[in-house]
Amino acid sequence: MPEHPYEGRRVALATQHGKLRALAPPLVRRLGLIVEPVAIDTDAFGTFTGTTARTGTAAEAALAKARAGMAASGLDLGLASEGSFGPHPWLPFGAGGMETLAFIDAPRGLELTLSAVSRRTNFAQHEVSAGTDIAAFLTRVGFPSHALVVRGPDGDVLATGVQDMATLSPLAWPGNRLETDMRAHMNPTRMAAIRALAGRLAVRLAALCPDCGAPGWGQVDLLRGLPCSSCNQPTQGVMAIIDGCTVCHHRETRPRPDGVTAASPASCDWCNP
Ligand SMILES: [Zn+2]
Ligand SMILES: [Zn+2]
Repeated sequence: MPEHPYEGRRVALATQHGKLRALAPPLVRRLGLIVEPVAIDTDAFGTFTGTTARTGTAAEAALAKARAGMAASGLDLGLASEGSFGPHPWLPFGAGGMETLAFIDAPRGLELTLSAVSRRTNFAQHEVSAGTDIAAFLTRVGFPSHALVVRGPDGDVLATGVQDMATLSPLAWPGNRLETDMRAHMNPTRMAAIRALAGRLAVRLAALCPDCGAPGWGQVDLLRGLPCSSCNQPTQGVMAIIDGCTVCHHRETRPRPDGVTAASPASCDWCNP
């Protein structure tokens, strides 16, 4: 087995929030890629406490951060992650949170983004009111392993990264708002989601394009039109997976991995209009 093209290469990780320990292990294990954190002002790209507005899509924001890390470090490989939590314009309906990872290989012209949507997030707010207990809220959001942000009645941030009752108690006054701190290093739920996504990125980069040999071969689209098992008309069901290369744009179609070759008449517009 020949060495992967990224064996021993360095990739800039644009981060302020300690994501290294979630992102680096799968990339070094599978590809031999050395992840180097680069301190950039990622908050300039939008903050969880709302002081900077976010523009574009999650994928664009993650790519912009990765480019900033490459510029700051002089490395030609870049990596960055972006989290979005509901309600948020980037999130699909019903989702609680989404993590997005961007990877750039500038010499190859390779740009890859992967996203994972989850319902599982501790994202929440709570306004402190006189005579009520905050204990239920604290339990629900996983405090103190998950940190809090405290805001005053006018929305000013009074404290971030609050992880103990000694700090929280004097701030938990009626009219103040408690919010989950969504920065990755303050939020083990996010760190687990980022770790899982880094594993997917490593698998994706390990696969090389059968045509040009670039890393990142994998699913880029789905072919719909799975035939109905009763009338053989095409349905909206997935018939095949389309793999592609983001560098040379070579594409190949492969059968569904689950071996399904026909749709149930219940999902057919002809048999079950
Ligand atoms: Zn049918
Ligand atoms: Zn290719």
